[in-house]
Amino acid sequence: MKRPREAALKTPSDEALSHYRARRNFALTPEPAGGNEAGNDVGTQALYVVQKHWASHLHYDFRIELGGVMKSWAVPKGPSLDPKDKRMAVQVEDHPIAYASFEGAIPPRQYGAGKVIVWDRGLWRPLGDAGQGLRDGNLKFELQGHKLHGKWVLVRMKGKGEKQVPWLLIKEKDSFARASADYRIVDDLPDSVHGLADSATVPSKVRTSAASDAPAPTPQAAPSAALPARLAPALATLLAAPPRAPQAWRYEIKFDGYRLLARIDAAGIKLLTRNGHGWTERLAPLHTALASMRLPPGWYDGEIVVPNEAGVPDFGALQRAFETERIESIVYYLFDLPFFDGRDLRAMPLEVRRETLRETLKRASGTAHSEAVRFSESFDAGAESVLASACKLGLEGVIGKRFGSGYQSGRTSDWIKLKCGQRQEFVIGGYTDPQGSRVGFGALLLGIYGSHKQLDFAGHVGTGFS
Ligand code: MN
Repeated sequence: MKRPREAALKTPSDEALSHYRARRNFALTPEPAGGNEAGNDVGTQALYVVQKHWASHLHYDFRIELGGVMKSWAVPKGPSLDPKDKRMAVQVEDHPIAYASFEGAIPPRQYGAGKVIVWDRGLWRPLGDAGQGLRDGNLKFELQGHKLHGKWVLVRMKGKGEKQVPWLLIKEKDSFARASADYRIVDDLPDSVHGLADSATVPSKVRTSAASDAPAPTPQAAPSAALPARLAPALATLLAAPPRAPQAWRYEIKFDGYRLLARIDAAGIKLLTRNGHGWTERLAPLHTALASMRLPPGWYDGEIVVPNEAGVPDFGALQRAFETERIESIVYYLFDLPFFDGRDLRAMPLEVRRETLRETLKRASGTAHSEAVRFSESFDAGAESVLASACKLGLEGVIGKRFGSGYQSGRTSDWIKLKCGQRQEFVIGGYTDPQGSRVGFGALLLGIYGSHKQLDFAGHVGTGFS
């Protein structure tokens, strides 16, 4: 995404932040004073952030970078993915860009006293002229964050003369829209994304491809690129419970082994660990098997395992294989293909990269290679059933990958892991009315006691009742 034009032309004036600064005593609050923003490293990207703010009333501060400041709205109920929900968004004072990464506690008796977390963060792109949209009170834009994606609109309500102008934040209809009856993103994803890697490096093409009716892209549509010498692998975020929206995810077995990337070019095959350590010599039989397959150049991503007698990947068996030099038993399950045949496939949707990988391995299987290199199949079934089957088989868990997502180095919410044997006790604090054909109740509202003995809302559970 390109930085909106207006943001590139203007620098923040002291006037733009005067309202912000007038309300705060920077000797007492940990919030940034702002100014000197030219020195920040936002590069050519325009930021957006949603900060969850436990002030006198819990609200969500929605901020977009424009004109050298963060234009800001306080959204009492937070964003909703349901286009039928019109969420009140009160425009508040411009904040400094540095505020976008602020997380902390504003001390008692200070303005906005209470805890602030970065609930979501990413890039935004205006659809049309952003300055015009703001002036007209109709700002259409696209978000590319950890939690919020796709098209949105901010519509100004009447009452232009008021000090704090009310707007409505509305999700526009696209493939990221969800009915609030089955998904409430503020409840289902309540936590901070502060520690997560940004999705900032993946072109917006990835997100929009899923939203349009355009035919699925082919790997030939990916940009040409030299094969990079190093590649940090994509990592999964551990979730305590499966996400909703089963159609948005593809599940694979979580292999209990070592992550291994294969860099293949004319000069040869390099086998590298997650941290870039060379294991080519250590895994000589695997190297030989891969070489015999004559795979096209690229970065191949997978995991090595040693199956136990039951055929289940066994970490202990893998370690023993190294100790006893019985490394012929190692199996390499490949699941992704970020670079392939002179092209950078990272911005391609997951399913395109995986189909390319599957076809490539199928073609190669005609040549003389052992069972040592395999494709990691995915399952379209819902998370609960895939996880239940995996656990029954004695597997460690499952990995979920967001349909349509690009390949991003580092930990993101596009790859998730669900582990077997995770348990948690909850307090049933209430229930919702039944929807549709349901009778009795809809979902149970669950709570969990927090560190200060207060009962915190943990989410709602609408399935699994007999
Ligand atoms: Mn606030």
